[in-house]
Amino acid sequence: MDNLVNIFDSFYPGWRERRYVNRFIAILKELVIPTYSILETRIENHKAIYPKEWGQIVSALKEAHFFKLFAPPEYGGEKVSEQEIYFMMELFGYASPGLGIIFVSHGRAIDILLGGSEQQKKEYLPRMAEGDFGAIAITEEKAGSDASAVGLRADRVGPHYVFNGQKIFISNSGLARLYAILANTKGVQGPRSLSVFIVEDDLPGFTINELPKKDGLSVLPTGQLIFKDSPVPAKNLVGNEGMGLVLTLDVIDRGRIHIAGICCGLAYRIFRELYQYAHQRRQFDHPLTSSQDISFQISDMFTRINAARGLCLHALKQVGTSYYRMSSSQAKLFASQVVMDVAARAQVLMGGRGYFRNELINQLSADARGMEYLEGTSNIQKMIIGRELFRMYHKEKVG
Ligand SMILES: Cc1cc2nc3c(=O)[nH]c(=O)nc-3n(C[C@H](O)[C@H](O)[C@H](O)COP(=O)(O)OP(=O)(O)OC[C@H]3O[C@@H](n4cnc5c(N)ncnc54)[C@H](O)[C@@H]3O)c2cc1C
Repeated sequence: MDNLVNIFDSFYPGWRERRYVNRFIAILKELVIPTYSILETRIENHKAIYPKEWGQIVSALKEAHFFKLFAPPEYGGEKVSEQEIYFMMELFGYASPGLGIIFVSHGRAIDILLGGSEQQKKEYLPRMAEGDFGAIAITEEKAGSDASAVGLRADRVGPHYVFNGQKIFISNSGLARLYAILANTKGVQGPRSLSVFIVEDDLPGFTINELPKKDGLSVLPTGQLIFKDSPVPAKNLVGNEGMGLVLTLDVIDRGRIHIAGICCGLAYRIFRELYQYAHQRRQFDHPLTSSQDISFQISDMFTRINAARGLCLHALKQVGTSYYRMSSSQAKLFASQVVMDVAARAQVLMGGRGYFRNELINQLSADARGMEYLEGTSNIQKMIIGRELFRMYHKEKVG
């Protein structure tokens, strides 16, 4: 991990002097990396259940005021740059991609609230800055890549919106205290029918169910949310009715960079594991790295990881501009392809060992495959890039 930290230092001189950095790195080294393979969660009675090591990690992060880094200073948080958050995501990717996704989801729930009223920000953000986890719930059985198909009903009845329906594959299920939920307030399908609400985990009629086990990312609880006549106070509508999809898609642009960062950190971790292995493993009287084919593959991997990080840093320079949506999609598309490719090649280069479940490389590869789906699949990123290209270039005169 030290080399990765040095790489970040070269991009951002003085980064290591920031208050939280050394403590964060120490928590990853001392508590997160050693427990990576055993930290598995399950959902029981509406709650994500963890082994005791989880409590130590969360307490250490709270003590280090880590949660504050995700909320603005006016609401109990701390000022950090987008680049700093990006570095943290890469380090999470290196140490525990699933834990990184927990914080990506938490951060997106905060971003949704930033589109809310002053009262909502004052009520919820300080809680999240102190350690109440958030989650963001869009996906449903019939609304995956096409978020505009969201059908969870939110019908206005007096001072409430009554929720009926379900969400699936929701990160932080049973861990979050606050859920940003995309719901349908019009009863007809379409982007202008959707609104976003903030929902507390103890809402009447709200239950969280476990889903079948995932291949990887086992620290990340990913469950199903069910609402049965659940009365959500009307004051919990974030922004205006009908604007939920716009708000959610804006928030996801930012999430893409964070997922891309996790991909780069994870790809770097896999590269490190492979590099060490290939040096010490001898066949035909030589280390594997003395084969030109293998050393070329490793060089190629490292180059592509740096190229993926380059695209992420490029996108970070465009935050707030009209290029950001496209560049964050490009970064996520490329970084997730790189990590999946690096993982697949590393498994092969580790020989038969790489195929066994108890091997770290196998677990990291399963995490890498999960990166395809988060914040939109590769095809969805290509769709976004295509639409943005059309918006930018179809009217431009050549010459
Ligand atoms: C570990 C994990 C965590 C997740 N966390 C969350 C979360 O916190 N909140 C949340 O809301 N969701 C979450 N999701 C859901 C995730 O966002 C969806 O899985 C993803 O958006 C894809 O939707 P889908 O699974 O329904 O696939 P589908 O939309 O059914 O797509 C299936 C395949 O078809 C392709 N496809 C679909 N439409 C087109 C098209 N028009 N052209 C070309 N190809 C197309 C897709 O790329 C994909 O390969 C999570 C998923 C996973 C695996």
